[in-house]
Amino acid sequence: MNALRSTVKPAPAPALDVERIRADFPILKLRVNDHPLVFVDNAASSQMPQQVIDRWVKYQTSEHANIHRAVHYLSETATAEYEIARRKVQAFVNAKEDREIIFTSGTTEAINLVMHGYGRKFIGRDDEIILTTLEHHSNIVPWQMLAEEKGAKIRVVPVNDRGELLIDEYRKLFNSRTRFVGVMHVSNALGTINPIREMIAIAHGHGVPVLVDGAQAAPHMSIDVQDLDCDFYAFSGHKMCGPTGIGVLYGKADLLERMQPYKGGGDMILSVTFEKTTYAPIPAKFEAGTPPIAAAITLGAAIDYLNAVGMDRIAAHETDLLDYATDQVHRMPGVRIIGTAEKKAAVLSFVVDGVHPHDVGTLLNEDGVAIRTGHHCAQPVMQRFGIPATSRASFAFYNTMAEVDALVASIRNVQKVFL
Ligand code: PMP
Repeated sequence: MNALRSTVKPAPAPALDVERIRADFPILKLRVNDHPLVFVDNAASSQMPQQVIDRWVKYQTSEHANIHRAVHYLSETATAEYEIARRKVQAFVNAKEDREIIFTSGTTEAINLVMHGYGRKFIGRDDEIILTTLEHHSNIVPWQMLAEEKGAKIRVVPVNDRGELLIDEYRKLFNSRTRFVGVMHVSNALGTINPIREMIAIAHGHGVPVLVDGAQAAPHMSIDVQDLDCDFYAFSGHKMCGPTGIGVLYGKADLLERMQPYKGGGDMILSVTFEKTTYAPIPAKFEAGTPPIAAAITLGAAIDYLNAVGMDRIAAHETDLLDYATDQVHRMPGVRIIGTAEKKAAVLSFVVDGVHPHDVGTLLNEDGVAIRTGHHCAQPVMQRFGIPATSRASFAFYNTMAEVDALVASIRNVQKVFL
């Protein structure tokens, strides 16, 4: 963060014109079970505005060809647009260089890339990897696979009853065998915003690199990887108004250069003989084969859209939605909120006494309300709270206070049916 950003308080941004924004999203006009759709499952995947859909169509109808390969008009256009998209991502997370941005299929692939490219090269027997109780399975399972292969160990940062990481316990986990830290920026199951800047500084004090799973942060707040000083930052396009099949791995250039490639194939080489292959420089080294060209370019359009709305205004509106929903649900007898951290993003996980979350989800769907129920690919968090599953409403900037009211009314209905 530069001096100006840290000392000058910005003027408050004007509130969002949510109705105008909603008009951009064709899918939000749907009716489900004779009710207006109330889509509050944005942590799983968000919706696309027309401007982003149009970018996809434009690519398919007037720009499509394979990239980096031919000198004809379409290939050159597609290549240029793909690289423009990379620079949009670079600016979005404030990376120093565009070659630090690797396109992947999503957060999951980005983390697997780091596990294979960094972990398999630099982590060995009896080495230790620190993860947290909050992690999504995609930031647990790859490291378990590595630990099993190498004989390494996983150490886990515990959480308190509010769902906040215990930073003193985190500090105590470091020792001379610690080689890597993986931590999510925002919890998809509870909404906790983790103090990753502080956690990264602690890890760096021990010379240990940090991967941040930003899948639930990138859509909701401005990200500055240089300010955070993270070594890797991963996120998915489909959670930030972009298409499925595209994600991003940011990595510091010097680390990416020292890593081994994760997939071999075309486009990631300088030269190939049967005796020896030399690899292309980053980012190509990590983008073997034909990448998701259309999806990357469309993600660029999604970033344009989010920037036009304004990440600070998005964060402010989502905080209002969360506060309003939390206040109402908190006052409902027989409903318990899981995850009450002081710093939270727009995720409201709850359990309704005596009703299985799947039944909550099914009944809410009858009212046109789309939530997610289950363990949210975060079974260790559920175990920590002694529950098998929760119901989770997760908000986006296009949600309204009236939709929160509809959600709350629908939860009341569930209680009427079951109790
Ligand atoms: N991490 C977190 C915190 C997530 O919420 C998700 C998606 N639920 C993922 C990783 C995985 O993202 P993807 O499925 O797009 O790879």
